[in-house]
Amino acid sequence: MEIMPNRLDRGFELYQEEFENKALEVLRSGWYVLGKEVSSFESEFAGYIGAKYCVGLASGLDALWIAFRILGIGVGDEVIVQGNTYIASVMGITINGAKPVFVEPDEFFNIDADRIEEKITDRTRAILVVHLYGQASNMKKVMEIAGRYNLKVVEDCAQSHGACFGEQMTGTFGDVGCFSFYPSKNLGAFGDAGAIVTNDPEIADDVRIFRNYGSEKRYYNKVVGANSRLDEMQAGLLRVRLRHLTDLTEERIRICSRYLAELKNEWIILPRVREGADAVWHQFVVRCRRRKELIDFLNEAGIGTIIHYPIPPHLSEAYRYLGYTRGSFPITERYADEVLSIPLYNGMTEREQEQVIDRINSFK
Ligand SMILES: *Cc1c(COP(=O)(O)O)cnc(C)c1O
Repeated sequence: MEIMPNRLDRGFELYQEEFENKALEVLRSGWYVLGKEVSSFESEFAGYIGAKYCVGLASGLDALWIAFRILGIGVGDEVIVQGNTYIASVMGITINGAKPVFVEPDEFFNIDADRIEEKITDRTRAILVVHLYGQASNMKKVMEIAGRYNLKVVEDCAQSHGACFGEQMTGTFGDVGCFSFYPSKNLGAFGDAGAIVTNDPEIADDVRIFRNYGSEKRYYNKVVGANSRLDEMQAGLLRVRLRHLTDLTEERIRICSRYLAELKNEWIILPRVREGADAVWHQFVVRCRRRKELIDFLNEAGIGTIIHYPIPPHLSEAYRYLGYTRGSFPITERYADEVLSIPLYNGMTEREQEQVIDRINSFK
């Protein structure tokens, strides 16, 4: 493949010297778990997002399930979530024994806030909002509904580092914002990493204790927790990348503005940005009814693509026990059949992008 859908090596090369220096610094420090890199990253990331607290964790999935655990949501409870998300969002709910209640997405691939209320029952405890593909959801409407029904709000920001709704960044609207720093995310580590952000000091404390075997003081365990610590190496490397995140996001926006301006093909529906919301473009996702043909046509020219995601959670084998079938969520399923992510990465050259645009525009 000449042009791959993602190029993590390019993201490394952009700041190679800084990453290498930081890696050596951590190696030589003699301190590898829960140290100054983690606490510095936590305060820097909280500052960037505009939240009071950040607690580093081992992954985005851990951030989700630990958030629900700390909020006390589990067996017998229902959590509302959009149908068209990455399956980890749903696992964050079901690991605790709670039941996911799916809502169809809107035209921006986010939860359709107008369809939330009809799914609320007396078991509903929370809404999980996923800012999918880097686009902020309609948080005004979601927070209004949550307030009226006294529901918790958890935000899955694994794809939305830095995306705003209005003036406020995603992750700061609800009770907890959950982030992943998996290498391919907009703020990517060089291994697994995640975090929660919150403005509630009790939640921050509870998560900080939970991630370390439920222990605040060594060998004194308050609750049965997990081992979900962010390590010093990942935290240090994330601090390097975080310093450049504004530039990295601007680059993604520039690339996607060009896609929006220059892609012209009657078979392809381009993504749209919600008024009043930002997109930080984790993916550039088009829709095409002839997707298989389009994929092959691009592959023939050495251009790779990815489908995010081909099987919606309600139809995956893992969630067969929920009893859904094809047809249960028609919009979610149509998106799963039509979406296609085209090449997008930091360090993408103008020439590479031109090749992608020319090829897509010549698809007949
Ligand atoms: C990546 C991702 C996660 C999970 O993050 P990990 O760090 O891989 O565990 C959760 N939700 C969404 C929407 C994601 O894209």
